[in-house]
Amino acid sequence: MFKKWNVSKESSSNVNVEDLFAVNKNNKKNDFMYNSDLHISSYWEKKDDWVIISIVNDIFLHAIKSKASDVHIEPNNLDLNIRFRVDGTFITYKRLDIGFKDSVIARLKIMSYLRIDEHRLPQDGKISYKLFWWKTIDMRVSVIPTIYGEKCVIRILKKDDKPPELRDLGIMPYNMVKIKNHLKDNYGMILAVWPTGSWKSTTLFSLLSQFDPLEKNISTLEDPVEYRIPWVNHTQINPAIDFTFARWLRSLLRQDPDIIMVWEIRDEETSKLAVEASITWHIVFSTIHTNSATHTIQRLLNLWVDPLLITSSLRLIISQRLARKLCMHCKEKYKATDKIKDYLIWRVWKYIKNKDDIYLYKKSDNWCDKCNHTWFNGRVWLYEVLEMTEKLENLVLENASRLKLEIQAVWDGMVPIKDDALLKVIMWETSIEEVLSVLWT
Ligand SMILES: [Zn+2]
Repeated sequence: MFKKWNVSKESSSNVNVEDLFAVNKNNKKNDFMYNSDLHISSYWEKKDDWVIISIVNDIFLHAIKSKASDVHIEPNNLDLNIRFRVDGTFITYKRLDIGFKDSVIARLKIMSYLRIDEHRLPQDGKISYKLFWWKTIDMRVSVIPTIYGEKCVIRILKKDDKPPELRDLGIMPYNMVKIKNHLKDNYGMILAVWPTGSWKSTTLFSLLSQFDPLEKNISTLEDPVEYRIPWVNHTQINPAIDFTFARWLRSLLRQDPDIIMVWEIRDEETSKLAVEASITWHIVFSTIHTNSATHTIQRLLNLWVDPLLITSSLRLIISQRLARKLCMHCKEKYKATDKIKDYLIWRVWKYIKNKDDIYLYKKSDNWCDKCNHTWFNGRVWLYEVLEMTEKLENLVLENASRLKLEIQAVWDGMVPIKDDALLKVIMWETSIEEVLSVLWT
């Protein structure tokens, strides 16, 4: 069997990449580094932990370079499949000989301080990966047993120390006006909602960075801490010692906060405390997993929040989705067919100047290297911003249906997310096929 890992020698997760490169310049072991046909025999020949360390480093480096959000290391009956999720889509990076599975997973467990002798139960850990001496990338590691061995998923958490600017998120002026108006409020709750997955925090942090942390007391409770804003009090949740959102919220109210960010409202107690905090002269930012702005109101009601409290606290719901941005090097211009043209005019006629000829972009027949042969490069944010109005508040108090809430919200000026997406198609940022697959399925 493979050589046992020497935990004391290799317990540091901070293998320096600069050292790795330095070794690769001269070292004969370099030959396997980018070879996807790497066979277990080469490992046997070298009989060296450094081979596995280098394989894992190579995976991390390429994942970071590809801007992957997740790395999946999956054993099956044939091989050890390593793939990255980039812009929401899987890209297979390489397939290793199945003989590597135990050693690669063991290495990842050591790096994330997990038990290497536990193979039957799921384990969660963290890696602070030192990319360069001035840059560390945080990763969250999850190991779960499968019938072919343990599967490991690594979420790459921190790509930037600073959240993006609000103006860089592609928020259209009709939504930006509403958001900026409510950032001036003295109290109330602003929710960012999103069906599943990561990235939802980006908008929230961009909103938070609009405030001066030296003039306001800004506190956040996160899981995990993703961005760091100077002079903001970031706190990490720790369920192992019963340090939960609810417990933090109860303590925080004695810390004289102005602005509070609760990472996620997922239970009754947190929802009630967050709503109560927002009506007692605090601005509360949070997220909820729902499909749309109006679904959010129903979700709060399902969490047994009093409708009267919802109407007194809720100010704004920002529903967001991500679509893939067409690669500017291999997108192709075309004239929209009559059917698509009529549809666009029906939905977003106000924003189309030349209604006779509408040109759009689509994937071309050939892809390019710049987008890893995927036709897409980067993301486009799609938004729907619901501002609470008096009429909407009355409907919430009447326990109205979601459809009624939706119709009223549109009457009161909400631009549905589908229209926001179609505008981004007209602006040539993405293709109509892409927004259809994101929003119409
Ligand atoms: Zn391309």
